Amino acid sequence: MKSIAVFCGSSPGISPIYRDQAAALGKELAERQITLVYGGASVGLMGAVADAALHAGGRVVGIIPHFLNSREIAHTRLSELIVVDSMHERKSAMAELADGFIALPGGPGTMEEYFEIFTWGQLGLHVKPCGILNINHYYDPLIAMFNRMSEEQFMQDKYRPMIITDTTPQGILEQFSSYKAPVVPNYLTEDRT
Ligand code: AMP
Repeated sequence: MKSIAVFCGSSPGISPIYRDQAAALGKELAERQITLVYGGASVGLMGAVADAALHAGGRVVGIIPHFLNSREIAHTRLSELIVVDSMHERKSAMAELADGFIALPGGPGTMEEYFEIFTWGQLGLHVKPCGILNINHYYDPLIAMFNRMSEEQFMQDKYRPMIITDTTPQGILEQFSSYKAPVVPNYLTEDRT
């Protein structure tokens, strides 16, 4: 795996554990010579993951839309900062540049980014792994929600392997190395009639 996109909070969270573990992920990526692709900000967990990767000698590519450039305070020491025109461009650039995706704890923005890429996988638009780094049990309610989706048959069982969760960066990356995307119809290319 050459590059991984990380989605995470523009806030640091209440406990230092979030920042520490975001930094642990950044360091782990750098040590494995995996490029970090992320939203390009210097604040919150976004800044923590980027700083740690840079500190460990890693390559970090930030992608930020013009209008967030000052608001999210773009990181000034990245290997590369790509400024795009819109949120949609940011997300599709991240999706294209990365071989896999990891969501750290975050707010609605993080959730939106994770779910968009997850659902693109369900639709067969990519076969890249999407992981959730469940720091401090933050994502336990989301994992419970996934279980409920399955139980109530709002998510087919064949998509369950797409839900990759772990409590450590090493654990997630280990799961990524053996990931096999479910075989799903590509709705863009296959005749579904
Ligand atoms: P948050 O997790 O809410 O702190 O947001 C984390 C990242 O998601 C930030 O880089 C935001 O720019 C981005 N973000 C916030 N709102 C949205 C949205 N509606 N769609 C896509 N990304 C968003």
